[in-house]
Amino acid sequence: MILEGIFNTIHMLHVNDLQTTFISKKESVTAVDGVSLRIPKGKVVGLVGESGSGKSVTAYSIMGLLPAHAKRTGEILWKGQDLTTLSDKKLQSIRGKEIALILQNPLAALNPVFTVGNQLVETIMLHHQVSKEEATARAIELLKRVQIPDPEKRFYQYPHEFSLGMCQRVMIALTVSMMPELLIADEPTASLDVTVQAQIMLLLKEIQAQDNMSILFISHDLGLIAQNCDYVYIMYLGHIVEEGAPSAIFHNPQHPYTQALIHAIPDPNPDNKMETLPIQGDIPSPMNIPKGCRFHTRCPKALDRCKTDVPIMQKKGDSISACWLE
Ligand code: SF4
Repeated sequence: MILEGIFNTIHMLHVNDLQTTFISKKESVTAVDGVSLRIPKGKVVGLVGESGSGKSVTAYSIMGLLPAHAKRTGEILWKGQDLTTLSDKKLQSIRGKEIALILQNPLAALNPVFTVGNQLVETIMLHHQVSKEEATARAIELLKRVQIPDPEKRFYQYPHEFSLGMCQRVMIALTVSMMPELLIADEPTASLDVTVQAQIMLLLKEIQAQDNMSILFISHDLGLIAQNCDYVYIMYLGHIVEEGAPSAIFHNPQHPYTQALIHAIPDPNPDNKMETLPIQGDIPSPMNIPKGCRFHTRCPKALDRCKTDVPIMQKKGDSISACWLE
């Protein structure tokens, strides 16, 4: 029932039972274990969890940007074709043009030795059949679109002459220049202060609505996700543990991990605090995954069976969650 509405639309991306394992001579570490998620056309889907939960590995697995020692199984259906079966050449033609990635640190993604304009023109000419003059005009237009003041002058400047927030706007311009249908934004605002964070989120949402783009928005910040997404997945130690509409996740969370994430959001009004218990300790290493429910070592409500039996995803309240509690 909760999937109706948002998921009545066309699925651009359908990830099915994704498992990603990093294999070395000494050991194998499974960072993503059985993840399934769907991203409909023109919708913003959130993936939230602590560092080490496997969110970024999920993003890199979808993009096919894993190191050689990683093994990926399951299906990643993009408009019906399974990306895991495509050649590198075919995958490269989809990356950027159809599916693009924005990372947390824009300075690491921009080339410090080329001007911002140069990088935009190169990207535009790589993805579209246009002359240098046309690409230059489009680049300046894009800088305007991402609200960079004085774009004609900024076009000739280097990344170090931009603030971090402005660099992230340039990264958004670079991504938008490729006109992707799906944008995977991996903690795009994590390195920015709160005001700039809000401006960047607003900009991303504006562009998403204007271009009818789909977004997979990855963050550790459940508040940010709930405010900006149409559907939310909660991830813990390689598993999806709860999914649903933001209102259900935020106002009636079923899984103790989701409840703990909400508890961790600062609320200026103490009367609004829901009755939840704080999360204890650190997320275990994927090299040492607890048996049964992976969350049982930190769960304030754990039952005996949680130590041995793996809970399955089932509908409870208005969301779908994996927990043995009635
Ligand atoms: Fe906690 Fe058990 Fe539910 Fe896991 S299954 S979240 S340990 S109550």
